[in-house]
Amino acid sequence: MSRLPVVAVVGAPNVGKSSLVNRILRRRGAVVSEEPGTTRDRGYNRAEWAGKEFELVDTGGMEPMAKMGLEALVTLQAKVAVEEADVIIHLTDARVGPTEADAAIARELRRAPGKVVLAVNKLDNPADDTDRYRFYSLGEGEPHPISALHGIGVGDLLDAVVSLVPETETGEEDELPRLAIVGRPNVGKSTLLNRLVGAERAVVSEVAGTTTDAVAGEVVDGVERYVLLDTAGVSTVSYT
Ligand code: GDP
Repeated sequence: MSRLPVVAVVGAPNVGKSSLVNRILRRRGAVVSEEPGTTRDRGYNRAEWAGKEFELVDTGGMEPMAKMGLEALVTLQAKVAVEEADVIIHLTDARVGPTEADAAIARELRRAPGKVVLAVNKLDNPADDTDRYRFYSLGEGEPHPISALHGIGVGDLLDAVVSLVPETETGEEDELPRLAIVGRPNVGKSTLLNRLVGAERAVVSEVAGTTTDAVAGEVVDGVERYVLLDTAGVSTVSYT
């Protein structure tokens, strides 16, 4: 059974990952804030460019866990990219980089089987993208200049991304059985989901009702795969 290709946006905190994801989706699906680490959860979004569909993953949702330290965060983001992504957008910030964190992420991504596309964000003036050349030092090939805020360069970046996306039949993942975890707030839904999926995918909190969005994951059980939904303290269940 095939799945949609996965494109993950990976990068240091505050480089603009959520802004880029929002720009690509052309809607404000994820929480964007001036404060680093405010994206509540790792979003899964279906996106389309030049007739190719893919699942867009915003790893900014891991940043509440950044309190574990940058090293752990880098490892965690890279782990997701390694495990799941066909194409990885490594996003950096032209105003501060390349930083040690950018270099650490680049090192981790070298182990990823997915193809890496380097993007340099916050180049808001299209007439001057010279800052991007510094990023060749990361060894990830051409640094694509973008401004997620203004939408500059995002089309060219997506052209590069979809040229690397593998061909798959679309729509098949809709046929996967869908399992929902439901229950009152704080009974342990997110913890159970994480255990089943085997990855730190959902934000787990002691505070009742803090899981804000449905999180979809795939459980590999022999050859069977399911889409697993985590819900925030819902008391009704619907089966499809
Ligand atoms: P994340 O932590 O990587 O997901 O970053 P966010 O998307 O939350 O963005 C962090 C900050 O950078 C926010 O204040 C954004 O408004 C700002 N930002 C994002 N993209 C751009 C850009 O292209 N240009 C400028 N000037 N600011 C940006």
